[in-house]
Amino acid sequence: MNNEYTNPELMFKNWSLASQTKEQTDVELNAHGLSIVEIKRDSNGEWHYIQGSQYNRRITAFTPMTVTGPAAGNDLLKTSADPTGRSVMGTLNNCSGGRTPWGTVLTGEENFHQYFANRNAMPDGPVKANHTRYGVPSGASGYAWSRHYDRFDVAKEPNEPLRFGWVVEFDPYDPTSTPKKRTALGRVKHEAATIQIASNGRVVAYTGDDERFQYAYKFVTNGAYNHFDRKANDGLLDDGTLYVAKFNADGTGQWIPLVAGQSGLTAANGYGTQAQVLIDTRGAATTVGATPMDRPEDMEVNPVNGKVYLALTNNTQRNDTNKDAANPRANNRYGHILEITEDNGDHTSTSFFWEVFMLCGDGRNAGHGTFFAGYDPAQVSMIANPDNITFDSKGNLWISTDGQPGTLNINDGVFAVPTDGDERGRVRQLFSAVPGGEVASLVFNPDDTTMFVSVQHPGEGGKWTDNASDLISTFPDGRGPNRPSVLTISRATGSPVVGS
Ligand code: CA
Ligand code: CA
Ligand code: CA
Repeated sequence: MNNEYTNPELMFKNWSLASQTKEQTDVELNAHGLSIVEIKRDSNGEWHYIQGSQYNRRITAFTPMTVTGPAAGNDLLKTSADPTGRSVMGTLNNCSGGRTPWGTVLTGEENFHQYFANRNAMPDGPVKANHTRYGVPSGASGYAWSRHYDRFDVAKEPNEPLRFGWVVEFDPYDPTSTPKKRTALGRVKHEAATIQIASNGRVVAYTGDDERFQYAYKFVTNGAYNHFDRKANDGLLDDGTLYVAKFNADGTGQWIPLVAGQSGLTAANGYGTQAQVLIDTRGAATTVGATPMDRPEDMEVNPVNGKVYLALTNNTQRNDTNKDAANPRANNRYGHILEITEDNGDHTSTSFFWEVFMLCGDGRNAGHGTFFAGYDPAQVSMIANPDNITFDSKGNLWISTDGQPGTLNINDGVFAVPTDGDERGRVRQLFSAVPGGEVASLVFNPDDTTMFVSVQHPGEGGKWTDNASDLISTFPDGRGPNRPSVLTISRATGSPVVGS
């Protein structure tokens, strides 16, 4: 489980930013990262946490990590605490990631910028320009951390934010192992790291950059997956080519390589080395002419039809002058989903076809301009702000949402939609969360009999004070301040969640 971010107003009674103590900061740093726990299903079909499992581990903002790939050791990644540029303390704002066939886990560092402070106190130059591009706060942060740790103050430690924004790989079967920041996959606000093994054995990782007008990416390894020697796959994600997507109006598209020396990525433009390309992936993607998207969230491969689905959660800054075929709605409050078919079904291909799968909203409201893959919009559940997505083994697309309270005035939830056949586009809601909480995860166990769902930051918008009515939710147990929780959803019969 990713522990993406903390809500101190719900963690500490009568909390205020101005009076936050170092002890509270340390609690927050330890509450970031990941929790690895072993769970087991009992004979009644219920899942239990195994206390004392050899696999249980907490990865935090203090856990040492090794930097690997082309940017490792670069001067831009060196700090006073780490003159090698190869050893980072911790991982931050971990969002959607993925799993590899060799049994490791990938986690994407998303909104890492928000923990840092004081960009305006830095000297002008490329590092400050990078921080501006990635949104490091010009003055104070909404978090108190820079008051207690110099590394979160860019006036004192200017390179520290460059050590975040990566995809991190770790081995959940070895709690003593050191996680690795895989720089070859680029530095953005990562959402998703979905692994697909191509027909030639090379490994493809799809990943998005979740911010308005940012891009969708994939990485293709040079080496091939070794099914027979788990450890032989350890460095696969350090060596390959990073691509960014360009969506053409005619329904075709290209994966443009982000390689120093190609497509305008020159020393004169600031991209003389691959490390420079990777540390400023956003700038490199803009330079090569990629298509700015409406906040790329999760990207997943349908196991039945092999197509790639990209969730775009919203973009209210899209307008009539900058909308395009792949981001077709001005003031896109509700978000949409694209369906991508790699040329010849080959995930290493550098060209693809794409179409709009879904334009979200309330299908009964013509003003929303919805589209549900051709299905009657009056016959589907209203849905907005698709975020994390997954597939069951039958190829149905499952969607969790983040933002519906603000756009449809309903809680976030879980939705399913068939991607093929007569019911293609028929969206139906399975689950609704609670006020203030987004819904995340969506993971099925291998036989689809359990779906794991995270209710993230339930009650956000409220605060824990002496006045109980300041809480807007007491999820999950009604006993006080709300707490993020993982739920399982199964049928009473024990049969798969989908199907008869
Ligand atoms: Ca997120
Ligand atoms: Ca996101
Ligand atoms: Ca989210």
